[in-house]
Amino acid sequence: MKVLEDADLRGFSTMRLAARGAVVYEPESVEELRSLARQLAADGTACHWVGAGSNVVFGERVETPVVSLMRVDGGVENLGGGRFRAGCSVRVQRLIRDAQKAGFGGIEYLFSLPASVGGCIVMNAGRGRGPSIADVLEEVELLDWKTGAIRREPVDKAAFGHRVSPYQSNGCVVLSAVLRLAEQAPEVTEQRIRERLETSRKHLDAGLPSCGSVFHRGNRWLFQAFRLLHPRSGGLAYSGKTSNWIGNRGAGTLTDFKRLVGKMQSAHRAIRQACELEIRVFE
Ligand SMILES: Cc1cc2nc3c(=O)[nH]c(=O)nc-3n(C[C@H](O)[C@H](O)[C@H](O)COP(=O)(O)OP(=O)(O)OC[C@H]3O[C@@H](n4cnc5c(N)ncnc54)[C@H](O)[C@@H]3O)c2cc1C
Repeated sequence: MKVLEDADLRGFSTMRLAARGAVVYEPESVEELRSLARQLAADGTACHWVGAGSNVVFGERVETPVVSLMRVDGGVENLGGGRFRAGCSVRVQRLIRDAQKAGFGGIEYLFSLPASVGGCIVMNAGRGRGPSIADVLEEVELLDWKTGAIRREPVDKAAFGHRVSPYQSNGCVVLSAVLRLAEQAPEVTEQRIRERLETSRKHLDAGLPSCGSVFHRGNRWLFQAFRLLHPRSGGLAYSGKTSNWIGNRGAGTLTDFKRLVGKMQSAHRAIRQACELEIRVFE
């Protein structure tokens, strides 16, 4: 297992805020992850789990250990009949391409996410308020961080919501999952991938490092107003192209991020409406 001390955390978050971590662990198998869990749990040490980091920002100095899950399980297995087992570290693009080769699909709306399968499941990633990965999930394999026990669970779709999954608060790492995809000709999958990338190019501000939508709940007129007013703090700014989106011009920090988030939250408070952060803040 690779252990990085006083690590530059920019490579572990797609928003690339200036951040350093006291220690980053990069376990390279389920067994390594499991023994790390036992070791940290025995010491009573908390940690932050990170997938591809497309929904995570870090504080300037993070003392809590960071555990990267991107080398734990990178396997995709075709179980037949449209069922695929994917490890938590697999990039969604790889899963979609492997399924395409086998004549299955239906989750091409995830192709534009710089994300891992594990992170998509935990965040119940999807397209707007429409379809999400929970629709195709059959079973998950979980590692209980405190006990080190590994178990498989059938998926209860009723327990998912908009960017909400039961795995956000159960103290478990999602190790892998079985997904049931629909039969789909490879050309159709190709077309859907192209459409998804085209829509992203047109509507999403991919020009600067970001973590996609900042809030998963809020007032869309306020989101629009912030897009037009384009407020800035240090190296960060609300996008002038995509509402509910913050981009990093290179020198952004968590202090800048919190200032911009605070402005949006104050604006919501003024009209007595709720807004909820989608991006996870690790300090
Ligand atoms: C350009 C861009 C476009 C985006 N577009 C969309 C979109 O269209 N739809 C959408 O839903 N999201 C979108 N996102 C947000 C993001 O891609 C998703 O939230 C994605 O699911 C995060 O996956 P990840 O692997 O990066 O997880 P991370 O950001 O690394 O982690 C997210 C959370 O999940 C936890 N976690 C990660 N992996 C595991 C695991 N295996 N077990 C337990 N906990 C884990 C982390 O602790 C953290 O709390 C976008 C982001 C960007 C940068």
